[in-house]
Amino acid sequence: MGKTLFDKIYDKHIVSSIPDGPDVFYIDVQYIHEVTSPQAFEGLRQRGIKVARPKQVCATADHNVPTENQHLPIQNDLSRHQVSTLVQNCEEFGIDLYGLEHPFQGIVHVVGPELGVTKPGMTMVCGDSHTSTHGAFGAIAFGVGTSEVEMVLATQCLMQHRPKRMRITVEGDLQKGVTAKDIVLYVISKTTAAGGTGYFVEFAGSAFSSLTMEGRMTVCNMSIEMGARGGLIAPDETTFEYVKGREFAPKGADWDKAVSEWKELYTDEDATFDKEFNFDASDIEPMITYGTNPGMGIGITQKIPSAADIGATTVKEIESFDKAMEYMDFKPGQAMLGKQIDYVFVGSCTNARIEDFREVAEIVKGKQKADNVTAWLVPGSKQVEKQIFDEGLAEIIEAAGFKIRQPGCSACLAMNDDKVPTGAYCVSTSNRNFEGRQGPGARTMLASPSTAAATAIVGKIANPADLI
Ligand code: SF4
Repeated sequence: MGKTLFDKIYDKHIVSSIPDGPDVFYIDVQYIHEVTSPQAFEGLRQRGIKVARPKQVCATADHNVPTENQHLPIQNDLSRHQVSTLVQNCEEFGIDLYGLEHPFQGIVHVVGPELGVTKPGMTMVCGDSHTSTHGAFGAIAFGVGTSEVEMVLATQCLMQHRPKRMRITVEGDLQKGVTAKDIVLYVISKTTAAGGTGYFVEFAGSAFSSLTMEGRMTVCNMSIEMGARGGLIAPDETTFEYVKGREFAPKGADWDKAVSEWKELYTDEDATFDKEFNFDASDIEPMITYGTNPGMGIGITQKIPSAADIGATTVKEIESFDKAMEYMDFKPGQAMLGKQIDYVFVGSCTNARIEDFREVAEIVKGKQKADNVTAWLVPGSKQVEKQIFDEGLAEIIEAAGFKIRQPGCSACLAMNDDKVPTGAYCVSTSNRNFEGRQGPGARTMLASPSTAAATAIVGKIANPADLI
C-alpha cells in the first residue's frame, strides 16, 4: 500500500515508538522568537541543561519589534524586555540570532524559508501556530507549546501522536484577481474553521502546484485556520528553484544529492487519506471575511449570509454567529463591496513576501490612496524590504501615497505599537480576524494583498479584478 507524503516524512523521523503511546519524533529545525522562548530557556537554566543542537535552532525577533525607528531603543518596556531577553538567551546558549540590527531579521516564518533553512522533507517546530507555513516546501512543520519548545531545545525530539491525514484538491484555472490567499480563504469557508481538527492536510491539484513558493506559503500558513495541525504541498521544480543558492541551501554535490531525495517526496497514487475534499478553482472569486473567525468568508461580490445560510442550527452556533455580527456591526444580507473602511494592513507571515508587494504595486501604480484610509505596509523581513526598494516597487507604492514600514509582525496582533483602534474596520492580509486580534475592539476583515491594495485606493472594500 502506498504512502502519503506526510507519512513518508513522518516515518523517517521516528526515533522510537511507545506501544499505544506517542512516538519520539526527531525535529530537524526549531525556530524561536522572543514571545514563547523565555520560559523554555529558563526551564533549561533551572535544570542545568544545555541546548542539544544549537546549530539546529534559528532565532529572530519579530512579534514585539516596532515597525518604525528600529535604530532607536524599543519604547515599550515589555517589548524591550522580551527582545533583550531573547538576545541574552541566544548568547548564553550559543544560538544564531537574526535580531533587530541583523540584515536577515524579520518574521520567523518569512526568514526561515528565505534563508534556505527550511527545506523539503524536514520536520520543523516553533512556539508559534503559523509554523505550518514551512509545509509549503513539502515539510512537516507545526506549532508547539512552551514546554515543548523546552523539550526540543533539550533533546531535539518531541513526543508526538501521528495525526489523521486529509487531502484538499483544487483543480482548474483561477479567475482574474484571485490569488493564493483567496484560494485558502475559500477552502476554509467551505471546511469551516474547525473542519481540519485532528488532521494534517496535504494541498494538491493544479491550483496549488501552479502557485509560486510565496503563494504556497500563504496557503500552508493558513492551514491551521481550519483547525488542522498543519499543511503541506509536495515539492517540485518550483520548490527546488526557490531553495537553490540560498544562504543555508546545500551546495555542489550535496545539492544534487538533496534534490534526488526531495524528488521522492510525493503521495503515492495508491495512498489513502482519512478525509478528502475536492474544489473547482473557477468557483473562487476574491475573498473577504465578514465575521470573527477565518471560516466566515465570502466572495467579495456576495452578501453576508445568515446563520441559517451557513448551516448554524444549534443554539450555541446561532449565538456565536449573532455575537460575531454584533462585534463587526454587520447584518446578514449586507454587501461587503463598497463598505467604507479605516485601515489597511499588508503584512504578517501570511502575506509580507516580495510577491505580495509586487501585487500591491501592480494595483496602486499611477493611483492615489484614499484619504480616509490609514495604510500599514510592512515587509516580512529586512531582505524583503531591501528587495522592495531594489525592484523599484517602493517608488511606485510611495508615489501612490503609501509608506513602507520596517519588518515585524506589526498589526497582525496587538503586541507592538501598530494597533487598530476600537471600532475601526481594517482590511488585513494577516491570518486571524478574532475579536481584538488587531487591537481591543478592532474589526478585521481578512483578504489578499490585491484586495487590500484596491480597498486602500477606493477607500471602500473593492474588487481587485476591477482595478487590474
Ligand atoms: S505575523 Fe502574526 S501570525 Fe505570523 S508569526 Fe507574527 S504574530 Fe504570528
